[in-house]
Amino acid sequence: MITNMNFERLVIAAYRLPFKFTKTESGFKAEQNSGGLVSAILALSENFKKSSRVETEKIVWAGIGDGLPENIPDQSLENESFDIKPVFLPDELNDLFYGGFSNDLIWPLFHYFTSYCVYNPEYYDAYYKANERFCDELVKTIRPGDFVWIHDYQLMLLPEMIRKRVPDVNIGFFLHIPFPSFEIFRLLPRTWRESIIKGILGADLAGFHTHDYTQNFIKCVKRTTGFECHQNIIYTPNKLVKADAFPIGIDFNKFNSACHSEGVLNEKIELQATISDQKLIFSVDRLDYSKGIQLRLKGLETFLEKYPEWHQKVVFNMVIVPSRDSIEKYKDMKREIEGMVGRINGMYSSLAWQPIVYQYRSLSFEMLIAMYNLSDVCLITPLRDGMNLVAKEFVACQTNDIGVLVLSEMAGAAAELNECLLINPVDNNEIADSLNLALMMPDAEKLQRITRMQYRISHYDVFTWATDFLNETFDIKKQQKMMNVKFVNAPILSNITSQYNKAASRIIFLDYDGTLVPFQKFPELAVIDDDTRDVVKRLTRDKKNKVVIISGRNKDFLEKQFDGVAVTLVAEHGYFIKEIGEAWQESFQADANWKEAVLPIFDEYVSRCNGTFIEQKTGSIAWHYRNADSDFALLRLHELRDDLAEIIRHKTDFEILEGHKVLEVKSGKYDKGEAVTQLLKLGNYDFVFAAGDDKTDEFMFKAIPEGGYSIRVGLSPSIARYNVADIPAFMHLIKSLV
Ligand code: UDP
Repeated sequence: MITNMNFERLVIAAYRLPFKFTKTESGFKAEQNSGGLVSAILALSENFKKSSRVETEKIVWAGIGDGLPENIPDQSLENESFDIKPVFLPDELNDLFYGGFSNDLIWPLFHYFTSYCVYNPEYYDAYYKANERFCDELVKTIRPGDFVWIHDYQLMLLPEMIRKRVPDVNIGFFLHIPFPSFEIFRLLPRTWRESIIKGILGADLAGFHTHDYTQNFIKCVKRTTGFECHQNIIYTPNKLVKADAFPIGIDFNKFNSACHSEGVLNEKIELQATISDQKLIFSVDRLDYSKGIQLRLKGLETFLEKYPEWHQKVVFNMVIVPSRDSIEKYKDMKREIEGMVGRINGMYSSLAWQPIVYQYRSLSFEMLIAMYNLSDVCLITPLRDGMNLVAKEFVACQTNDIGVLVLSEMAGAAAELNECLLINPVDNNEIADSLNLALMMPDAEKLQRITRMQYRISHYDVFTWATDFLNETFDIKKQQKMMNVKFVNAPILSNITSQYNKAASRIIFLDYDGTLVPFQKFPELAVIDDDTRDVVKRLTRDKKNKVVIISGRNKDFLEKQFDGVAVTLVAEHGYFIKEIGEAWQESFQADANWKEAVLPIFDEYVSRCNGTFIEQKTGSIAWHYRNADSDFALLRLHELRDDLAEIIRHKTDFEILEGHKVLEVKSGKYDKGEAVTQLLKLGNYDFVFAAGDDKTDEFMFKAIPEGGYSIRVGLSPSIARYNVADIPAFMHLIKSLV
């Protein structure tokens, strides 16, 4: 059910156009294929028309058009429902982009076949250029209200490219193959992996087949960019992006009802006559190393060895659909498979029986459905597979004489089909035993298992999948809008400037790290640049302004950074305050002996979490974890909190303060809020302004009186009145004031 769609037009980008082109007098007739994705997109568009009651424009579909001449006018491609935008790539570019980067690097890498990967810089250049060509073609057409849905591993840079050129458009990205763990993904050279992650993050929603792939992606985002992620939401500098699992479904009714069609019934009669009363094990897949075909044959061999009682009674029909077999690696694989089939048949065949019937061909739809429907067992053994639709199709085609699915746990589909017999494809014995179990399984049990799986895949079919993806895109758009309400936009900025100009006496609190100066690997490297110092100076030149730098930094560092600038300094979160031309005042008297108890714990955590370090201040000690693996550091952070709680349990004047990738222990109840309150008492201000970027600044925001302006730099939720996206956006705001 479509709940909240409000797009103007659907625009699809996928590597290959799903059309068969035939020449006509005026151009080309484009006949769409019958694949699940095309049907889902058409249904989506129909539903949209119904729910919005408006006649929508045709769906735009961009991709490579096999057999189309270059520079063909759009209107010469005839199709009722689709406005087809062919993308043309010169052969050489396409070879490097598609055959090279996509299929010789990303495909093997994302399927964990790392030894098959070819790291060729020319491939990457071609990948970039080809994505750009797609972008050039699309931006000619797309408008801000459109929903652009980009598909698969060939186009991972495209979302960001489009976002840069049409910032307000809605973009979804879906990956049809697995997303690997960071340990695998990091094998890509740094610039390539960064561009892939940032490329995908150009979308509003990034979809994957399973929860595991989604988590892998989020981990790679954290490790590659350092962006904050809360659950499935990624806080990029300028917008929220959601990553989520959408297991692609099939057109269940099409497969299920086809079992009773005349064409299928005829095929079944012929097949039945051939196999007679033998049991039938079936498999079908494209020729690919990810499909575990050799392992399947090994499993079958073990089955024949271990369970001789099935000789003469079982036949295994293995269909391999031709794919990429002009490539050496695939040719070798085909030779190896054929050698194994020959060897096993040679070993076990008799004049009347041959255990394996091997076919290297594609099947007609009717033939495929007949095979699914008649088979007693469907044996699917990929070493890694994004989803595996064959498994779902087999389940959908069990109408009478129910069969059993034996499926590799490495297939994405395994997450939804857990009532099947799950196997590890490298375990011959498990395959053999599962085949025996499947062939012996009582009918009642088969029915129970299949009914549950059918229930699930008939409900979450390809149509629900597409609708779900679209609805989630609009949900994240809503969340982005809620954030935007708080963003300093042009009218808000003009209001702040006009209040600023009207005011007779102003106080301006500015945090340092993350507000004026970006984070660096080590705190001492984060020094103020000339441009920012100049902006602060310009603020101080106005006699109506009191400018306060309010920071967790120690006093020496702040003094050095603002040497010669007429600002009030607040160091160590308010422990020290220094008015212009005066000496530092301690707002608090702490007993430093407490550090002896805490320091060894911090030392221990530096040893237990690589990349972390300690910063000592007068009133506090800080443990910084910005350079550590973020998930591991969070685990250690929880433990550190527990250990500290134990130590400071009886000391009421101790506090744990958490900032941007730092945990700090201080003695005493001072914070930035206290310092702000103290300074506000000293004057009578009609314009109060405060800006900061992390949790420690929330104390400051709380202390800002009503009518004052508090600004949180970055996208995190905050009690501040407004957010700005990042430091450059904040500098723009400050420059508008001066
Ligand atoms: N299929 C096909 N021609 C055939 C046999 C199968 O087009 O001769 C279809 C099959 O129905 C399924 C798809 O190919 O929809 C294979 O999808 P799957 O996810 O199992 O594997 P992929 O090839 O996408 O890795």
